[in-house]
Amino acid sequence: MFSEELLAWHDANARELPWRGERDPYRIWISEIMLQQTTTQTVKGYYARFLAAFPTVRALADAPEQEVLKLWEGLGYYSRARNLQKAAKIVAHEMDGRLPDTAAALKKLPGIGDYTAGAIASMAYGRRELAMDGNLVRVLARLTAEGGCVGETAVKKRLRAAGEALVDADRPGDFNQAMMGLGRLVCLPGEPKCGECPVSRWCAARARGLERDLPVTPPRIEKKTERRGVALVFCGGRVLVRRRPEDGLLGGLWEFPNFPDAMDAPSLVECLAELGVNAAGGRQIGAASHAFTHLLWKMEGFAFSAAALPDGEKLRAVDAAGLAALPMPTAMRAFREAAEERLRVG
Ligand code: SF4
Repeated sequence: MFSEELLAWHDANARELPWRGERDPYRIWISEIMLQQTTTQTVKGYYARFLAAFPTVRALADAPEQEVLKLWEGLGYYSRARNLQKAAKIVAHEMDGRLPDTAAALKKLPGIGDYTAGAIASMAYGRRELAMDGNLVRVLARLTAEGGCVGETAVKKRLRAAGEALVDADRPGDFNQAMMGLGRLVCLPGEPKCGECPVSRWCAARARGLERDLPVTPPRIEKKTERRGVALVFCGGRVLVRRRPEDGLLGGLWEFPNFPDAMDAPSLVECLAELGVNAAGGRQIGAASHAFTHLLWKMEGFAFSAAALPDGEKLRAVDAAGLAALPMPTAMRAFREAAEERLRVG
């Protein structure tokens, strides 16, 4: 039987991971949200630190948002952290601290989509649910020799139905993990290792010699490039920082003020003046770039001085310790280091 072969392979090959074999719904939830878009190696450290700081759903619900974002710093896709906390508040205050035990109810919480709902329901509650991530899409498209583009809703539905029919009734959580492991270790994107595959005899793509041609994926979207000037404005041992709006890219995180196409000191002085900051100087301090999913920032940094800086909710000056405590995106790392250096030497 398909699932028997797959699970036997999984039992022999599963990696030791901090969340492997976990049954606590809260801990499974945290690991699954962190693992979206982020490698296992990176997640390990974050997972341990996050759970040490917020060991229960109530602890997460009641924490200041900036503390949650600080612990997420460097993981990227920060809306995941904000949604996690929004959902934690609902679970803590409206559900008596217990995560729902069905995929349908889990999906009603912020940030929990089909995949995460299936993962929690199957791994924590033993529900016969499919957790279809990108690995499963690829594996299922090959198993069924699906010729349609996997970006299309109708195709995803077909793959989901095929996957749901395969889920093991006794070990649904292990089944999902086994399928993901198969995608990660054997049914690789470019070169599937069909000779090592425990389920090759059920694979329609392999039978027809199509394993390298599938899945059919949507065309890649070209990254848009944005040039941004970054201003480090210093005043008496402090540097100016700005909080990004709650919604949108890097929402709620702190940054040094930066402006599209303001790539020289005079342009930045004008932009800063619009924020009410009178900056002088403008020494070039270096360039950095940062790639988001569909966007590339090419940044040029400049250091300014000012006689006074604002002290508001969203725009304020911080000293070295204040800077270290703020959640800042990785995109700002090079400039943060430059600012820390300058604040250290005075
Ligand atoms: S036989 Fe090859 S293509 Fe098919 S599921 Fe296994 S590794 Fe993937």
